[in-house]
Amino acid sequence: MQPSRPVRKPRSKTFMNQPKTYYFDNNATTRVAPEVVEAMVPFLSEFWGNPSSAYFFGNQVSNHVEKAREEVAALINADPKEVIFTSCGTESNNSAIHSAIVTSGKRHVITTAVEHSANINYGEYLRKQGYQVTFLPVEPDGSLDLHLLQQSIRPDTAIVSVMLANNETGVVFPIQEIAAFCREKGVLCHTDAVQVPGKIKLDVKALGVDFLSLSAHKLHAPKGIGMLYVKRRTKYQPLVIGGHQERGKRGGTENVASIIGFGRAARLVMDHLEDENTRVRGLRDRLEKTVLSTIPNTYRNGGKEYRLPNTTNMAFEFVEAEAVLLLLDQLGICASSGSACTTGSLDPSHVLTAMGLTPMRARGSVRFSLGIYNTDEDVDYLLKHLPPIIQKLRSISPLNPEHPDNDAYDIDAARVKHEQDLAEALSEKN
Ligand code: PLP
Repeated sequence: MQPSRPVRKPRSKTFMNQPKTYYFDNNATTRVAPEVVEAMVPFLSEFWGNPSSAYFFGNQVSNHVEKAREEVAALINADPKEVIFTSCGTESNNSAIHSAIVTSGKRHVITTAVEHSANINYGEYLRKQGYQVTFLPVEPDGSLDLHLLQQSIRPDTAIVSVMLANNETGVVFPIQEIAAFCREKGVLCHTDAVQVPGKIKLDVKALGVDFLSLSAHKLHAPKGIGMLYVKRRTKYQPLVIGGHQERGKRGGTENVASIIGFGRAARLVMDHLEDENTRVRGLRDRLEKTVLSTIPNTYRNGGKEYRLPNTTNMAFEFVEAEAVLLLLDQLGICASSGSACTTGSLDPSHVLTAMGLTPMRARGSVRFSLGIYNTDEDVDYLLKHLPPIIQKLRSISPLNPEHPDNDAYDIDAARVKHEQDLAEALSEKN
């Protein structure tokens, strides 16, 4: 039976009077920027008309939506006509793959074993519908074998969908090269760039992709608004069919206030690109270096170089990440053990497992993802509290060779047995 997830006690009962939060989970979602809220409010209070309405009250809203489209297009160096607003990154990913298989009539899709569940579970769904889906494996540092990717492209391949940066490890994939292989073979190429805006400069023309997904809540805009870039002249079949909104490419009345927020946030993150790559990168590097050099038996997951500047994922041997997160949470520190979309499952991360981490090391892994609102004091606070938490948990861990009682029995055998038990429990479940 799947063990149930521990229930975390709220630190404060009142919503308004929140204690200070030390937020290290910017890959899960980001704080909505005050500038973004300010830009949105008039579209909730005054300009609430339907952008499709022909009269002036609707028409002026439509003009603002088009302005926001221009701002989002500028973020990725696209033409505004190539931008379709969707409800989220998941919808954008699903839509790109759906469109490719419907318009090409081909039945094979290539993606990777380390994608967000938006692709993994959609791929599993397609398999059940009789499509063939290749989930490419990754190397121990989280990178892709491009030769294998090239070999996997077949005459019946409709689309290759590879993320631009991994949400758990921050590892960046060489999409420009992948898109070039795809072009050579006449196969469509999609990239999930949800984690990228504001961290790496985005340029769809330089990348050479046919489709690219974004989600506004990763760049200081609200949840529930996303975007799909569809390169001009690419055949497109909508997933959400309805009214003529988004030039007939996505039915449903526009989420106007959120679109306005998305546009404002696009400008904000372009302005902060330098800060992410200098100050935020420096905070991440200081955090990672200090943890790895002062807490023994701790490892970085994923390659060091080709990585988002804000993300570090570290394995703490002999502890369970869930216990670490629980104790951090009691101190107001937010971090995570994988994608927020898989929270609730105690299975080790599919990303870390695909990189070949043992279930035990994967279950002891924690992701810290920083952002423009993090400060030196935040990192100091985390660095003050994390080592004693790891030490405390290790002092009671039966798997820790330094535990005082562990002379009494064969610790290596106990660890091997624990790994086997975890692996068996997983295979029974699957
Ligand atoms: N792709 C990646 C890489 C993500 O990190 C996420 C969200 O965590 C998504 C897709 C899904 O985005 P959304 O939450 O907007 O559906």
